Amino acid sequence: MIILKKRGTIFYLFLFCVYFSFSQSGENQKVDDIVIPSDELYQQTWGGANTVVRSGMFQKNIALSLPLNLSKENTFVFPCVNRPKVCSPYGMRGNKMHSGTDIKQNMNDSILAVWDGVVRMTNKSYYGYGGIIVIRHANGLETLYAHLSEIEVNENQAVKAGDLIGKAGRTGRATTEHLHFEVRFLYTHFNPKTIIDFDNHKLCADTLFVKNGKFYGKEADASQDTEVTDIENNEENNEDSDLLSIVEDLKQANKGINTNSATTIPSHHIVEKGDTLYSISRKYNISVQEICKLNNINENNVLSIGQKLKIK
Ligand SMILES: [Zn+2]
Repeated sequence: MIILKKRGTIFYLFLFCVYFSFSQSGENQKVDDIVIPSDELYQQTWGGANTVVRSGMFQKNIALSLPLNLSKENTFVFPCVNRPKVCSPYGMRGNKMHSGTDIKQNMNDSILAVWDGVVRMTNKSYYGYGGIIVIRHANGLETLYAHLSEIEVNENQAVKAGDLIGKAGRTGRATTEHLHFEVRFLYTHFNPKTIIDFDNHKLCADTLFVKNGKFYGKEADASQDTEVTDIENNEENNEDSDLLSIVEDLKQANKGINTNSATTIPSHHIVEKGDTLYSISRKYNISVQEICKLNNINENNVLSIGQKLKIK
């Protein structure tokens, strides 16, 4: 329930209430049962397979202000219970971009959701990120938590700010136990420091201003358009820099995420024991909704073993 109101060249985002209904803890909810935040902004893009569902959505000509304190009940919570200093900041590392803020952790330290939201993606081993969770929040931001040793939530699960979502680790490309934490808007990462005070573990802004392809925590800075973060809006920079070389390696080996879609995906899937619409959607990188549409079925339909499902 988001209304975009034009005021000059700035679009102000007003967020009313996004309430998530909770049933038993840990129960995986269906997409249709809950309000996916920011649907209008994201044009319904939603998928569990990748960190970026559609590249190029973030346009430099958009100007928005996004509320960071969503409501009394939905306030920011620092993602780590164990809170040492940042061990590697967002920004250039040599000639590579580091797309998040690294916070040193001990093995299995608790990792928390920073705002209410819905888990869009989980993967125990996603390239250089290792164990990863991506949560979409009602204000249009997504947060990404990586190198996790354990993942305690499921895709499409609604979470509350402060909920335990996983455990810190050093999975993926990591030389020590730490949390790699990203904030993103329309699949484009920006410096978490723009809005989060990592020394005091709280927000340092109550609104995020997005203007000319850049991100600001202060309206004055946005109006002066002083550069705060250097965002190049291209597909590659949407990925962790450490990840880039891995993806390139995979592409060269002709088995990367961008090369396996057209050539190897069959037109049908025969349902096997244990299959769900969800696992099938992940296997073929297609949304549950698309599978339902292709097969004229409902998301609540029970699959039967041997059933033939169109997947393209
Ligand atoms: Zn990192």
